Order: sequence, then structure tokens, then C-alpha cells
Amino acid sequence: MPALRIDVSGLLKKRGSRETLHIEDSLPPAYKGQERIVVNGPMRADITLKEASGTVMVQGALTADVTLTCGRCLNTFRLTVTQPFEEVFRRHSDFNREDPEEQKEEELFAIDEQKIDLTPMLSQALVLAVPFSPLCEEGCRGLCSICGEDLNVKPHEHDDNDEDMPDYKAALQQYLKEHPQDNKGS
Ligand SMILES: [Zn+2]
Ligand SMILES: [Zn+2]
Repeated sequence: MPALRIDVSGLLKKRGSRETLHIEDSLPPAYKGQERIVVNGPMRADITLKEASGTVMVQGALTADVTLTCGRCLNTFRLTVTQPFEEVFRRHSDFNREDPEEQKEEELFAIDEQKIDLTPMLSQALVLAVPFSPLCEEGCRGLCSICGEDLNVKPHEHDDNDEDMPDYKAALQQYLKEHPQDNKGS
């Protein structure tokens, strides 16, 4: 993703200098837990780069339009998420290679041939931006635990001598008739 490799040679020449960037680009596939994050259109980021004693301080915020699956009703919905980020990029010689943590940092946040790669930082921000159990709306009622219907679409309750239950039994019997091999089991 070459657009996200930024040349910082000019910045490093002058103490305390700053640059601002606006980026609109796609990121490599990112995952929240097992779920692939679906981004609609490019992500956008406003970024400030600042020289600080030979390092490059990067600050900004990422905005993306994502499609999420509601944790209650399982419907998909779109949400615009925003996440601030901040990172310091250093020269290779500034990392302590004895320390495994620093080795990892060096891979992601080193100034390499006067360039920095913003991809890992922005990917991290995207993952943080996405909520862990998203809800399509605050008061989503979810799916009925008995019949599986969407309670937002068809609000209902079941009581003990349930009238809907025979539907379920009938559906099961129908299924077993159509799949007799499943009925033979142990
Ligand atoms: Zn929902
Ligand atoms: Zn129900």
C-alpha cells in the first residue's frame, strides 16, 4: 500500500517542524475477533506529523463507514466510526533489540529509508474503532429465544401452554420426515 508510506525526509531536516495530511485509502483486511471488518468506501484519516528530536510523532483520527452485524438480532447495519491514534516513529538505531517488545515495535514503527508506513497504525485504529458487540440500536430486542423470530419486527411473548410451540414441533416432524436418516441415530 504505497500511498500509506510517507516520506519524512523533509520533516526530519528541521527541528520541531510539522506536516498535516489527509488520507483516503483502503486498508488490508482487518479482523475484530473472528469477524472480518467490512469497510464501505475508503477510510479517511486526518494526520499531523511532528519532528521531535529525530523521531516523528504522528497523531490523528481515523473515520470509516463500516457494516456491522447486530449482536442481538443478527441484522447488518452501517455505522460511521471514529478512532484517535498516536504513535512515535523512531530510527532503527533507537530501538532496543534486546527487548522482544521493542523488536515488534521496530517492525511496525521504524523510520525506514526516510519513510514511515502508516498502515499498521491505521489498521490498529480501525480494529479499536469497531465495537465488540455492536447493536443496531440501543433498544434492540433481539431474536426470540423460543421461536427465533426478530422481536423488533414481530414483538410477542410465549407463555407456558404455548400456542406457537406446536409450530416448532410440526416443523421438526416435517424435517425428520424429509431427513429420515437423521432420525435413526443412536
Ligand atoms: Zn439488532
Ligand atoms: Zn417467539
